[in-house]
Amino acid sequence: MFAGSRIVFSRTNVIVTRYHIWPLISNLPKVNFLLKAQSAISISCVHNLVSNKSIPLTKEPVSPVNRYVQRTHTCGELTLKNVGEEVKLSGWLEFQRMKKFITLRDSYGSTQLLIPEDRKDLIATIQNLSFESVLSTIGKVVPRPENQQNKKMKTGDIEVYVESLEVLNAASQNPPVFIREYSKAKESQQMKYRYLSLRYPELQKNLRMRSSLIMRMREFLIHECSFVDIETPTLFKSTPGGAQEFVVPTRQPGNFYSLVQSPQQFKQLLMVGGLDRYFQIARCYRDETVRHDRQPEFTQLDIEMSFVDRDGVMSLIENLLIYSWPEELGSIKMPFKLITYKDAMELYGTDKPDLRISYQIQDLTHMFDLPVLKETMKLEDEQKVYALVFPKKAKYLTKSIRDELSKIRSNYFATKLVQLKIESNSWKTQLDKLKLKSGIVTKDVSQYCKLQEGDAVLLAIGHRMDALKLLGKLRTEFTNILEAKGEQIRSSEAELVWITDFPLFTFEETLESSHHPFTQPHPEDMEYLTTDPLKVRGLHYDLVMNGSEIAGGSIRIHDANLQKQILGMLNIDETKLSHMLEALTYGAPPHGGIAIGLDRFICVLCNEKSIKNVIAFPKTMEGRDLMSGAPDIISDELKILYHIQTVDK
Ligand code: ASP
Repeated sequence: MFAGSRIVFSRTNVIVTRYHIWPLISNLPKVNFLLKAQSAISISCVHNLVSNKSIPLTKEPVSPVNRYVQRTHTCGELTLKNVGEEVKLSGWLEFQRMKKFITLRDSYGSTQLLIPEDRKDLIATIQNLSFESVLSTIGKVVPRPENQQNKKMKTGDIEVYVESLEVLNAASQNPPVFIREYSKAKESQQMKYRYLSLRYPELQKNLRMRSSLIMRMREFLIHECSFVDIETPTLFKSTPGGAQEFVVPTRQPGNFYSLVQSPQQFKQLLMVGGLDRYFQIARCYRDETVRHDRQPEFTQLDIEMSFVDRDGVMSLIENLLIYSWPEELGSIKMPFKLITYKDAMELYGTDKPDLRISYQIQDLTHMFDLPVLKETMKLEDEQKVYALVFPKKAKYLTKSIRDELSKIRSNYFATKLVQLKIESNSWKTQLDKLKLKSGIVTKDVSQYCKLQEGDAVLLAIGHRMDALKLLGKLRTEFTNILEAKGEQIRSSEAELVWITDFPLFTFEETLESSHHPFTQPHPEDMEYLTTDPLKVRGLHYDLVMNGSEIAGGSIRIHDANLQKQILGMLNIDETKLSHMLEALTYGAPPHGGIAIGLDRFICVLCNEKSIKNVIAFPKTMEGRDLMSGAPDIISDELKILYHIQTVDK
């Protein structure tokens, strides 16, 4: 018997207060038989035994999913192997027809129930029952008659011949969301009735995959690598130099908390505190525009280590992903690729390249007569010419697709876009057709780009970054168009790539950090810190999977003076970070870390279009919870308590 377990026998019941019953009970012959046969049994089995219900015990140990609940099997597991067994199933009424067949669905699948023709009582029970009513049934597994098997269902070879049927909770008529593959409710309706749309098999699958993935990540970090799981506060103070934060009013007039945008400062302070291998499944908040891959609150696997360098963090993450990678997704390609930020921009026009698309950007600037080009195209200042070739895709450059691609161009300022079809005539004729003066091209572009008849060429002419970013965008957008037309462009295997050597700073109107102000400058670039800061690279790394940034981190500054200098350059008030600066003076070890954006990572793994499909209760693009109506107005009493005055803008 489990130490501390307690079994209470009543006439018809057995209540077990811990996980398992172990062989000790001897005064109940049936129980004794059972206990010899298996080491752990579900309460429902014991209940059924003791209450003398005629559910025979399976010889197999009860599978974990059926322990402690009122069923012997799920609705997704019975096959011909179970024929002859008496089973108990519980689930929702998915469908019924001919007053005879019921489809009972739970989170694991559906099973057909067959009501015997002479059971008028059961027929009366189900007659006016709405879909989604909750039922429990006991019956015998029988094979379906010849030609009535349903090969699309896991349980399609059998049906359950019903002996008893209990309505546990009748659903109201016309549920607002039908759990059907066809005619799905629109997204807002699904979000309003999220508790119903959660019953869709895809959401069930995604959330279960999420749970087991996180479990394996914890297992790897704790068991294999001795990390410590530490919770850090989410009510914090405003952090300068980061994302826009949500503020939380307090009872002290004029004093607010901010919700953490990440546990960044705490994890660094843990390193100072000697907790040298920290991780946390951390909830973070950012008050930024919601996009398809962003939510105002999100979850990240947050990691920090002392005495580590960039390669150490990257190896840890590679091994973590190998360990936790869902088996059903096959293996993961090793080693992960690594490209610098500069190369990523030059070859793919983005720092989040989707390497499942093999096409790369080519720099053709040296093949053009730039002054002629400038004059012909009425361009200002220095220009670059980049090309992206889609082999054999010229036929797709129809008027409407050209227009679609041109629309995208408008977001890239003065960049010119030329869309060329390499048909039977030469590259030059193509340019002539576009009324570009001959002589503009000084070398044989056709040969350089290995152009062939039928290729589609996108040329971007403009400032370096704009032109590159335009082609980067077109690389994925044109691919999406081609794939929608049935072309297979992306390879099927997941592509993971590290991006390194980001610039430490970016310059919009002022100097800003590319990652965050705690990132260590690249040791080779220290000399430019004061002379040419935009030339300084940071020890910052991102992990990109199939074109989505799934993780980002850096080696941190552990020297208080350097940290002060960087804050100064960023115009950040150092008094707001005095606790960090002071902590660095008391023996902060060199340290670094990373965070994996779990919602986004799981979204990519599940091949979902939106992260909403991997989050149980997501918010809309406007940050609203359509189910509860949050955010909501508050009462005048609360406004007084929290010193809040609302003003009309
Ligand atoms: N705190 C960073 C983020 O949330 C990750 C890191 O640098 O570890 O993006």
